[in-house]
Parts: sequence; structure tokens; C-alpha cells
Amino acid sequence: HAKGEGRGTVTVFEPGMAESRRDELILEGALKRALDNGELVCHYQPQVSLSTGRILGLEALVRWQSPEMGLVSPGRFIPVAETSGLIVALGAHVLREACRQYMRWFDQGANPGRMAVNVSGRQLRSGSLVALVKAVLEETGMPPESLELEITETFLVEDLAIVPILSDLKALGVRLSIDDFGTGHSSLARLKDLPVDKLKIDQSFVRGLSEEGDDQAIVRAIVALGGSMGLDVLAEGVETESQRHFLQSLGCEVAQGYLFSRPVAAGDVSLQAVFP
Ligand code: C2E
Ligand code: MG
Ligand code: MG
Ligand code: MG
Repeated sequence: HAKGEGRGTVTVFEPGMAESRRDELILEGALKRALDNGELVCHYQPQVSLSTGRILGLEALVRWQSPEMGLVSPGRFIPVAETSGLIVALGAHVLREACRQYMRWFDQGANPGRMAVNVSGRQLRSGSLVALVKAVLEETGMPPESLELEITETFLVEDLAIVPILSDLKALGVRLSIDDFGTGHSSLARLKDLPVDKLKIDQSFVRGLSEEGDDQAIVRAIVALGGSMGLDVLAEGVETESQRHFLQSLGCEVAQGYLFSRPVAAGDVSLQAVFP
């Protein structure tokens, strides 16, 4: 196979192109090899306090540095990893790597705050996540309260059976956050039953913040909701000073986005405050 995959593959996987089952299988094979060959690495993006500029945590975001295809974005390969089941091994790799890296910083006397790791629906349902998290905490020495697992809202709405799994994760002492909040149509009744610590406002609402209108109202409402439920609220995808200004005026205290830093390789992370 490998021979035929060279240049042709690049054309096959043009962004935005609907992937046929065959293309998906090729990508799946390549991803499996990538996992074995250590081509999957974590980049890290800071989560920043808007009042002090301090870095409160880092989110680990997986990157595939493919020798043939270059840097492949998670938007392309995470869905394939999900359908094929590879996400379970991939997720374990990311979790372990992120916790190890956290402890490397910690041992160097740096304070990375918290480490946030994305967890997919399939991983949650795999039946092995709680044991994995427990094992990784033990083998790395990572303090459980410094680990935050991010779960997208869409998934939390779909599957009611995961609440006991979330409770088991909470019992390990880790934190849980709802990713892409506002896009998954979760009911407030549902939210009340979830043992979560944080809401991450989806970047689609942050994008329109600078203009008067619905996005400002939505962000204000999420901040109020989080506040009254005792949840932290973080805004994703902050790119401009003007968005930052609006978030602060709406009472949102924590943010993440290109304005502060893109996701970068571990060696390029600066844990200094992003503004004085
Ligand atoms: P997410 O968890 O909501 O991560 C935020 C995404 O927004 C990241 O894209 C990040 O690079 C991007 N981003 C951050 N700041 C800005 C900004 O200011 N402007 C814009 N336009 N984008 C910004 P990325 O790294 O491509 O990841 C996309 C999605 O893939 C993630 O969304 C997450 O759902 C998934 N993902 C990434 N890594 C993992 C992983 O290790 N495991 C799982 N299961 N999913 C992952
Ligand atoms: Mg996330
Ligand atoms: Mg998100
Ligand atoms: Mg997302």
C-alpha cells in the first residue's frame, strides 16, 4: 500500500472534500501507523485570566505531523479516529503525554496551573476511561485536581447513560468541563444533573462579540448561568482586543485564543503572564 499513497493521498484528502469509505480506510491505516510511529504530538494553548494576564491552565490539542501529508488538523482525523475506534488508543496517548508534560514543567519549578485534555464521546463510552485516568494519575504523579477533562456539549446531550461515568471521574478528583457550550442544545434541567465544573463558551459566540446583538446577549446569559450554578466560565477563540474588552465587560473572567497564544509545542510554551 505505502507506495501508492505518496502524492495521490494529498489530493484525495483535500480539505472540505467529503471522504469516501475508501479514503477513510486509507486515512485510518495511516493514522494507525502514525500512532505507532509517534507522529501524534500535543500542542498546548494557555487559558488566561482576563484581569491579571496570568496563565491558569493549558489545553492539550493533538497534532499529527505526517511525513507524507504534513501537519494534519484534528478536525480531519479525530472523526476518523472516532468511527474506527482508534480514538481510544489515541486518547490514552494524549492523556498520558499531557500529564507527563505537566509534571515535567512542575518538576522544573514552573506552575502550569491546570492541564485540560479533550475526551471524545466514544472514549467515554469505551468502558475503560475511568481506569485509564486513574492509572495515568498514579504513574505520572499528576495531582487529580490539576487535570481537567473537556467533553463537548453535543455528546453530553446525546447520551444519558454517561452521568455515572462522569461521577466516577469526579470521584477520582479530576475536573470536568463542557466544551463548545451553547452549540449542543442541552436543557438547563440536564445541565443541573451533570457533575461539571466549567463551561467553555463556544468560539462561534465570541466571534460576533464586537457587534451589538445576539452574541453579546448569549455570552452574558452563559456567564450569568455559570455564575449562579457555581461553574467557571471560559471564552474560547478570543482573537481581538475588542472581543477581550467585551468579555470582561460581560463578566467573563477566563479566556483562550490566538490573541494570547496559538497552541504551541511544549518547548515553545511560556508560562509567564501574557500581559502585565
Ligand atoms: P476544541 O477542544 O474546542 O479546541 C479549540 C479549537 O480552537 C482548537 O482547534 C484550537 O486550536 C482552536 N483555537 C484556539 N484559539 C483559537 C482562536 O483564537 N481562533 C480560532 N479560529 N481557533 C482557535 P484544533 O486544535 O484544530 O482542534 C479542533 C478540535 O479537535 C478540538 O476542539 C477538539 O474537539 C478536537 N481535539 C483536539 N485534540 C483532541 C484530542 O486530543 N482528543 C479529542 N478527543 N479531541 C481533540
Ligand atoms: Mg477543548
Ligand atoms: Mg471548543
Ligand atoms: Mg470543538
